[in-house]
Amino acid sequence: MLNPGYTTVSKFLIQNVPEGPHGRELAALLVDVAAVIKAISAAVGKGPLAGLSGLAGSENAQGEAQKKLDVVADELFVRGIEWSGLVGALASEEMNDVHFVDGSGRLALVFDPLDGSSNIDVNVAVGSIFSVLALPDRTTNPAAVLQPGTRQLAAGYAIYGPSTQLMVSVGTGTHGFTLDREIGNFVLTHPDIRIPEATSEYSINASNRRFWEPPVTRYVDECKAGREGPRGRDFNTRWVASLVADVHRVLMRGGIYLYPRDQKEANRQGRLRLMYEANPMAMLIEQAEGVASTGRGRILAVEPQTLHQRVPVIMGSREEVERVERYHAEYDRGEDKPYSSPLFGERSLFAKG
Ligand code: MN
Ligand code: MN
Repeated sequence: MLNPGYTTVSKFLIQNVPEGPHGRELAALLVDVAAVIKAISAAVGKGPLAGLSGLAGSENAQGEAQKKLDVVADELFVRGIEWSGLVGALASEEMNDVHFVDGSGRLALVFDPLDGSSNIDVNVAVGSIFSVLALPDRTTNPAAVLQPGTRQLAAGYAIYGPSTQLMVSVGTGTHGFTLDREIGNFVLTHPDIRIPEATSEYSINASNRRFWEPPVTRYVDECKAGREGPRGRDFNTRWVASLVADVHRVLMRGGIYLYPRDQKEANRQGRLRLMYEANPMAMLIEQAEGVASTGRGRILAVEPQTLHQRVPVIMGSREEVERVERYHAEYDRGEDKPYSSPLFGERSLFAKG
């Protein structure tokens, strides 16, 4: 039954996209993005029955092996968006460079068509992430899309989990919609999401510990020390290893997500991509009253130099992210006092013996 109170994503966008030079175009573009996401959701939801499992046999611009579904999702975005005349430029994780669209479109859509695609073959939640920017003028200069995240007009992601959900911000809070598969509409189910300021859940790939910087090691060791440590309470680890799934949990119930800079590959600034992973997620987190940091500043303030640039990501509940920022600042000033648990000390002595 169609509930008369039911707010579809189209209705929501028409009512909530701020007026301005791009208002109407932005609402129309986001409706098209929602349609693309329904198509990707259908393909992902068929699993191996769609015949889209496994590798495509090709590589993306960064030399990473593409899954068949990476390529299909990228094509669905391009075909679902470029026809409308709203967009002058498209760029994605799967493209070598910015793809310019003939016409008068003044918006740019930057996206990760399928995030967490290594999880596809084990049937774990994956997603799509997108960011909308305004093009300064009719241009075919790829540098035109290299804008800091503060300039995003809108951002969002879809999560293809037990249900398909779409989280969107147009700068007026972060709002969540759930796909009603029978009716084919995204329905507003999570208006005005607020991330709790405090949390006892942290998410980090602990196998990289030996590559972390000292402030990150200090933070995680203190969490692990639990009630006996300086934090005086127990923490839980949560790690899906799918950016969308991990950030979604943080958005829904709080937590801190870290993919910090590490020394695993020297000269690499973190692992996640600024333009189509970190920036859209940072906008959604900030619009939900969370904090999104590199450890040394706001993610949204980073000036991009290249389309596929990487960035350290620390985001989620305010108290924890601000604490990690403080540890970075103390470390950079030479004031860092790494916590060493007497218990861990004993264990490592024991192990060496
Ligand atoms: Mn990704
Ligand atoms: Mn991807």
